[in-house]
Amino acid sequence: MRQVIIIGSGPAGFTAAIYAARANLEPLLIASSVEAGGELMNTTEVENFPGFPEGIMGPELMAKMQEQAERFGTEVLYDDVVSLDLTGDIKKVVLGSGAEHEAESIVFATGSAPRKIGIEGETRLSGHGVSYCATCDGFFFREQQIAVVGGGDSAMEEATFLTKFASKVYVIHRRDELRASKIMQDRARANEKIEFVWNSEVIDVLGDDAVTGILLRDTVDGSERELPLTGVFVAIGNDPRTHLVHQQLELTEHGTVWVDGRTSRTSQPGVFAAGDVVDPTYRQAVTAAASGTTAALDVEHYLAARGDAGAPEVDASEIDGLTDAA
Ligand code: NAP
Repeated sequence: MRQVIIIGSGPAGFTAAIYAARANLEPLLIASSVEAGGELMNTTEVENFPGFPEGIMGPELMAKMQEQAERFGTEVLYDDVVSLDLTGDIKKVVLGSGAEHEAESIVFATGSAPRKIGIEGETRLSGHGVSYCATCDGFFFREQQIAVVGGGDSAMEEATFLTKFASKVYVIHRRDELRASKIMQDRARANEKIEFVWNSEVIDVLGDDAVTGILLRDTVDGSERELPLTGVFVAIGNDPRTHLVHQQLELTEHGTVWVDGRTSRTSQPGVFAAGDVVDPTYRQAVTAAASGTTAALDVEHYLAARGDAGAPEVDASEIDGLTDAA
């Protein structure tokens, strides 16, 4: 049996692993069979992670975090968690391979998944012109006209990146004001290949076997029109990945896992949550990493309180998550 199993391999999971491994907890980290590394694997240059003044590519940053976690003894498994039993004193984790693992504590750091518009053509043509990842699929749209849906930082980032390939990128936004940060907006607005389509929602994606256009509805006057294009990149935010724990952990009104104040303690003793799965607001690589730290420290205190970590007994209920030094 493990002292701690960490589920998730984004900045929260790997940072929790670095701290837990350095505390000699010999963590097992379940990294997913296909999406290891989390959202940063789908991003290009990360310009705002401290310590990299020239920026660093998302996948390279994740590889470095993994290397650091493994250096201190983290074991990484590339498999998917298919079910969890978090209710007992001993937590059970069942993997896609059929393997079962047990642990005294769990760090749940499964992040978030791209939000879908929820229209028929989107599902039908997913992978045939509809995409949720510009860095994965942008290459296929050389010299083509495409659209990015959304008005946040992700949409600006994707649109700007896609101008490397596409001849034209429409940004379709449901309002006349962007949600994105000023620097990302300015970059997109200055790009000649980007055209903003304001006050518009995508009500259908057109095409039989491949995307040929989108149907737009004006959110002000309700009028509809078709826009011919060959690709649609949906960048309208993310939803926390909580399906594994719905019946077992309390969730918030935002759909994120509930945690106790500034700690990572969930409604289930011995289960700690970190990263985008608990954060409806900030959702940055660096805030996820910080919350992974909190989770690992909370695990340490929890195990110490059980008398298993070789540390003096502490009452976990008295810890506010900020009591330990790094
Ligand atoms: P976001 O900030 O929540 O923005 C989502 C955008 O999609 C909003 O403009 C929203 O419109 C629109 N939207 C939501 N649901 C929609 C729907 N059903 N149909 C049409 N449009 C819809 O999400 P995000 O852009 O993914 O960013 C998430 C977080 O990651 C943010 O904190 C962001 O700063 C961060 N991030 C940072 C970077 C960076 O710094 N390099 C890059 C990417 C993301 P409304 O504006 O009308 O609500």
